[in-house]
Amino acid sequence: MIQITMPLNFLGTVYREIRQALVDMGEMFDLLEQPAEVSDKPGATPLRVDGGTVRLDDVRFGYETERPILKGVSLEVPAGQTVAIVGSSGSGKSTIGRLLFRFYDVQGGSLEIDGQDVRDVTQKSLHDAIGVVPQDTVLFNDTIRYNIAYGKDGATEEEIVAAAKSAQIHEFIQGLPLGYDTAVGERGLKLSGGEKQRVGIARTLLKNPPILLLDEATSALDTETEQEIQGALQRAGQGRTVITIAHRLSTIADADRIIVLENGEIVEEGHHADLLARQGRYASLWARQAAEQEEQAA
Ligand code: ADP
Ligand code: MG
Repeated sequence: MIQITMPLNFLGTVYREIRQALVDMGEMFDLLEQPAEVSDKPGATPLRVDGGTVRLDDVRFGYETERPILKGVSLEVPAGQTVAIVGSSGSGKSTIGRLLFRFYDVQGGSLEIDGQDVRDVTQKSLHDAIGVVPQDTVLFNDTIRYNIAYGKDGATEEEIVAAAKSAQIHEFIQGLPLGYDTAVGERGLKLSGGEKQRVGIARTLLKNPPILLLDEATSALDTETEQEIQGALQRAGQGRTVITIAHRLSTIADADRIIVLENGEIVEEGHHADLLARQGRYASLWARQAAEQEEQAA
């Protein structure tokens, strides 16, 4: 009996862990209803990152053949810069992230990192190069340490603490009676949305990716918490190429460049001030959000 139940228990644990890992993956962009549809091409080589310049050239893509989602999107994110993508819901913002991660292949045009087409490199190396901070960070039912360390195999205590410091969550963790050994998740300490998000940022920072993809990373938070997280995200982005998909425009006003996407096409791009002065699509999105915020404050 014992010999049989032990492996079954063990399998149960493994199964639960795998399932939780999949849940975690699934939350990554509010996406992944489908598994990855692409595989490494024969002889694929690892991506060689040299700064992390991201380039989309006339990218065309649709989930269904009769319905194009991206209709020829070209943009460059120079190494170390921050480009924000804004636009109404359904305009194709997250799709750009999915193509960069190569959950799908482009149907026209190309997508390159440091001059290498993402279709030519191994997916492992591609995924290692891109850190994602999703809308909602999913925590494992384990310690805070485990939840951060998950970002990197064999992470040392120093690396974990450094990542937590950069994510501005270290002091909070130290203030807990059990510190990094505090159990979190459904069966442990309930963290607030902002705290969870900072654990997620620490996890991503531990991975130390040259490219950071923030998909509405703060849109699930209230305005005050969002402002706190912005500081952590700004620090996280230093020295990295950042693509930030933003819901609230106030969080991206200082991006190096802002891209406005509508129905799968770039309709405007430039700095915040230029775009406001143009009194076009961005300016009206901005005005609408400002009015909404005033309403909420009133
Ligand atoms: P955004 O992030 O700008 O809100 P998305 O890139 O997520 O928009 O989606 C763009 C469009 O593609 C939407 O109309 C959405 O319904 C559609 N879409 C997204 N994912 C899928 C999918 N897996 N299958 C079919 N259509 C999808
Ligand atoms: Mg989206």
